[in-house]
Amino acid sequence: MEKVECIVVGGGLAGLSAAYGLAGAGAEVMVLERGDYSGAKNVTGGRLYVSPIRGFYPELWEEAPFERPVARELITMMGDGAHTTFELASDRLAHPPQSYTVVRARLDQWLAEKVGEKGGMVVPGMKVDELLRKEGRIVGIRAGADEIGADVVVVAEGVLRLLAEPAGLAARPVDRDHALGYKEVIELPAGVIEDRWNLNPGEGAAQLFLGSVTQGMLGGGFLYTNKESISLGVVVGMQAMKADGREIKSHELLDRWKELPQIKPLVAGGTVAEYSAHAIPEGGIAKVPRLYGDGYVLAGDAAGLSLNALVTVRGMDFAIASGYYAAQAILRARQAGDFSAAGLASYEVALRDSFVLKDLETARIYPQFMELPRLFTHYPTAVSRLFEDVFTIGPGPTPSLMKKAWKGIRRDFLNLGTLQDAWLARKL
Ligand SMILES: Cc1cc2nc3c(=O)[nH]c(=O)nc-3n(C[C@H](O)[C@H](O)[C@H](O)COP(=O)(O)OP(=O)(O)OC[C@H]3O[C@@H](n4cnc5c(N)ncnc54)[C@H](O)[C@@H]3O)c2cc1C
Repeated sequence: MEKVECIVVGGGLAGLSAAYGLAGAGAEVMVLERGDYSGAKNVTGGRLYVSPIRGFYPELWEEAPFERPVARELITMMGDGAHTTFELASDRLAHPPQSYTVVRARLDQWLAEKVGEKGGMVVPGMKVDELLRKEGRIVGIRAGADEIGADVVVVAEGVLRLLAEPAGLAARPVDRDHALGYKEVIELPAGVIEDRWNLNPGEGAAQLFLGSVTQGMLGGGFLYTNKESISLGVVVGMQAMKADGREIKSHELLDRWKELPQIKPLVAGGTVAEYSAHAIPEGGIAKVPRLYGDGYVLAGDAAGLSLNALVTVRGMDFAIASGYYAAQAILRARQAGDFSAAGLASYEVALRDSFVLKDLETARIYPQFMELPRLFTHYPTAVSRLFEDVFTIGPGPTPSLMKKAWKGIRRDFLNLGTLQDAWLARKL
């Protein structure tokens, strides 16, 4: 059997980040990617937080093909016939940028080229069918009739774990811990994007939506402005979707949402250039498996490293960081000539010491919090109703501002349900 030092399964951000670190240090590394090119098969909403990863491979991020630095944050709560948007415009968000919108087809391909420049081999169009095990240890991969051996395999195949689960490295994904995302890339001229979102030239906006976008089910909508397109999508919890008694099909949510009068003007005149759908791990730290073993490490979505914190969505920075730490641990193992679990254990230690597992630990309660149904039904409507009261001038005498506000607060927020939700929210 042909043999290389390191095989990376999956040329997404996790796999490419690992390969870049390994190749840069002179290790022999081969990345196997089933898509025609890196970025062809994977999906993201579209915003990468760069502050956490600036310290890794700093030479890369200055020239990365990002779209726009996010200078405006918008959260829209969509209720019945009304919606409320909170908007933050801040120079400090954009100078220096803490996050950028990205298009994966561009970003991943570029990173694959960088891996190649360091001497790594990225093989597109190569689907791995099996992780090979011998005497309890991962010893290589099988792709069709070909078997390739390796000292270590970086399993960065993404969320579905079609290889990791049969090999016994991680549990089979279950509905409760996953969401489904549908996304369109809609082309619009740069000037239209800047006018529509009130942006300075070159700057970007990120807008998240809660409430009627998912017809009240766990999930939400997202909109990110790229250079000359917007990424628009809907994410819905798989279990919430299945448990819903109505005849709603998940893939119809995006179309229905786009037809709402609040969204129509945002996409008006645009041309849909791309449509994609993808699963997202949302089980949090409790569902992260053991991250290493004899002859392998797990990175990125395959390891469940993603975090939906309602107003921030992260996975790409975790993927890049886990790839970086995987490379560091493998290089240490290589130096010691020990690719056993003991030799690779520093991977998990490093992740535990880093923002990746620390942030997931901080957010341990989030998946449970996100299951509160009122988050996606009652509150988005109640917030708009409160502001409607405040802004309404009726035919008779108008109560004082505080009286109007109190009436709304008492009606919609001072009740047992809200207190119960607030009790759980105190742990956020
Ligand atoms: C709708 C949606 C919105 C999101 N929004 C955001 C966001 O705004 N910000 C953020 O940070 N994160 C976001 N995420 C999460 C983020 O996209 C992921 O966490 C990230 O892409 C994980 O990177 P990865 O490299 O681990 O996996 P992937 O990007 O999925 O890469 C895995 C790669 O492995 C390849 N592969 C799979 N199986 C095989 C095989 N058998 N053989 C060979 N190759 C294989 C795939 O083709 C793919 O290229 C979002 C995800 C979705 C779906």
